[in-house]
Amino acid sequence: MIDLHVHLGGAVPAAVLWEILCDGGLQTEFGSFDKLQDYLTVRFDEILSLDDFLGRYFHATELIQSSPHAASVAAYQAIAKAYRRSRIQGMELRYNPLKRIREGMHTLDSIIMATIQGLQRASLHYGVKTGILFSLDKGGTLEGNWSIVEEAMRFRGQGGLRGAYGIVGIDIAGPESLGREHDKDWLAHMAAMFDEARKVGLGLSWHVGETAHTGPEAMINVIETIRPDRIGHGIELRKAQGKQRDHLCGLLRERQICLEICPTVNLVTRSIQDLKEIADLIRLLDKEHIPFCLNTDNPYIVNTNLQREYDLIAEVLGDDAHLLDQAKSYADQASFLQERA
Ligand SMILES: [Zn+2]
Repeated sequence: MIDLHVHLGGAVPAAVLWEILCDGGLQTEFGSFDKLQDYLTVRFDEILSLDDFLGRYFHATELIQSSPHAASVAAYQAIAKAYRRSRIQGMELRYNPLKRIREGMHTLDSIIMATIQGLQRASLHYGVKTGILFSLDKGGTLEGNWSIVEEAMRFRGQGGLRGAYGIVGIDIAGPESLGREHDKDWLAHMAAMFDEARKVGLGLSWHVGETAHTGPEAMINVIETIRPDRIGHGIELRKAQGKQRDHLCGLLRERQICLEICPTVNLVTRSIQDLKEIADLIRLLDKEHIPFCLNTDNPYIVNTNLQREYDLIAEVLGDDAHLLDQAKSYADQASFLQERA
């Protein structure tokens, strides 16, 4: 099993973050381990939307991960934990390097090198394939996003050690409520960035269709303008009807765009009410010959692991649980952890 959709900011246990915090001597509001752990524990009744979720945890985890040492340890431990829990064979970890430089106190180069080295150690120690996607920011400036793309192009493929592939792709994340995917001018700017990344062989993913803010129409805009290899989530496809459904399914099928489905986080953020919605979506994807896979998104914060995601969905699929064998091979095929043409 390979996990293609994991955010560094939500993948590192509180115990690891606490040790980083103590060793680094950073002043924060977290005066004890218990306070930090409590802060990073999801309470279902406090999270009413994806915006709540994004606004709640990540400023703290990103701040703690913001030094070369911290970034390296965090990246390493995210992989190590996933291996111990699920015996993963590979993981693509994504993060925004601009959110880990403490407003310019550290250089981007030092943070990026540190995460590459952290993943080299993890690949070596646990025998797993690893790679990094840089996450652009839907709420960020064009200038900031260009600087991330340029770093991705500069560092591409700097892993080179026993399954550590280094920087393998780019993605974009952030609040869907900004409605960016409905803004054609903005999308055209982003398409220029993604085109440059594509030219040097970086893989392209894009968070869209996770909530009703970016429904089927926004998914179509992204596919036609950005031409991503994969889509983060894309579960809003289940709400498309009639001709729009045919059109969207056709685009996904013809371009073999893999949907990175992350069930538990969708429950936590209330993008879905019940895992049966994911089971029904998977039946549709199978019928339409559209690739998909299961992933963990923010495994520490939502308290999951890749095996658990597959087990949960197998249960709701019932007699159709065999469709998940296909999901695992789709993940292998869609992974950026391989030599790409
Ligand atoms: Zn995500």
